[in-house]
Amino acid sequence: MNNTDNIYNLAAEGVQRLIPYKAGKPIEELERELGLTQIIKLASNENPLGPGKKALAAIQATLPALALYPDGSGFALKQALAEKYAVDPSQITLGNGSNEILELVAKAFLTPALEVVFSQHAFAVYPIVTQAAGATAVVVPALNYGHDLEAMLQAVTEKTRLVFIANPNNPTGTLLSQASLERFIGALPDTCLCVLDEAYFEYVSHVELVNSIDWLKKFPNLLITRTFSKAYGLAGLRVGYGLSSPQLADILNRVRQPFNNNMLALVAAEAALSDDEYLQQTIAVNDQGMKQLTEGFKNMGLEWIPSAGNFVLVDLKQAGQPVYEALLRKGVIVRPVGNYELPNHLRISIGTASENQLFLQALTSTLANV
Ligand SMILES: *Cc1c(COP(=O)(O)O)cnc(C)c1O
Repeated sequence: MNNTDNIYNLAAEGVQRLIPYKAGKPIEELERELGLTQIIKLASNENPLGPGKKALAAIQATLPALALYPDGSGFALKQALAEKYAVDPSQITLGNGSNEILELVAKAFLTPALEVVFSQHAFAVYPIVTQAAGATAVVVPALNYGHDLEAMLQAVTEKTRLVFIANPNNPTGTLLSQASLERFIGALPDTCLCVLDEAYFEYVSHVELVNSIDWLKKFPNLLITRTFSKAYGLAGLRVGYGLSSPQLADILNRVRQPFNNNMLALVAAEAALSDDEYLQQTIAVNDQGMKQLTEGFKNMGLEWIPSAGNFVLVDLKQAGQPVYEALLRKGVIVRPVGNYELPNHLRISIGTASENQLFLQALTSTLANV
């Protein structure tokens, strides 16, 4: 072969025009590009407190064992999760981040003949895993930036194998009531799975009383995904999990690689799960930071979308990309969301009080100059 473009035609159909996920800009990259040093990153909904002490101690204690393969069944972490959430270990699927669970469900259930329903402004990984599997994405227009469950139900046909719902949703932060979700899942046909992505569950669990895990008893087609990347402060280790019927978990287990979670990730996640103090501090810092940012927006005359997560979308009433770039030059990384059909918004992850203040100052001076 002498035409290197031809290689693209050899890729699976869905992959040929696939646009990869665009992550928040890493701090090191901005350092390299602009030679800045004091950089703050409020771009990927990471925990501003850093990892918890218990997780760090578990990692330290495990380092001498690194020559061995990890436990591919994740026995101890599953045991801890099972106890905490009152499920059977057979209902748990561990993933390299909950992102991997989203990939596993697509890999195991989708074919080019099938459709996937999700909302406009939904998490960018849903279209990617759908397209990679060659399946057809059916994108339902949002209602007030959130999921329009009625319209989503209307969009489900006999060809729909998966529905993705994030609650709270990223990047909009919108939250559905548990009652409306329960009704929605109950109304789905038996031929359609519901993936309920609860990456930000811990930020709402102290206010929401109904627990979606209870629904697993009656909905064998429900897959709940959660993660250690956000409230548990372990994004760099990549650990997430799925909760489902044992049958659904069995199917996901068939298509995962044998050692998908590394040893440090397994022990750190297990330790983090028992670190209630860290989790409470995380939620407190988030609640305060959310107030601080939204007060700041109010003082600047800006509107925002009320968010249940650890991030907030601010409406600049002008193109977000130039403001994003101006903030970069001031050493502040936030997230542009034009790729989510929200060109005038920026998504800001809640930081520490001083990070939030630096961001608000940078935004104020930027908006004064554009
Ligand atoms: C961050 C995020 C995830 C995935 O995070 P992992 O690090 O892969 O666990 C999944 N869904 C949503 C909505 C997210 O925002």
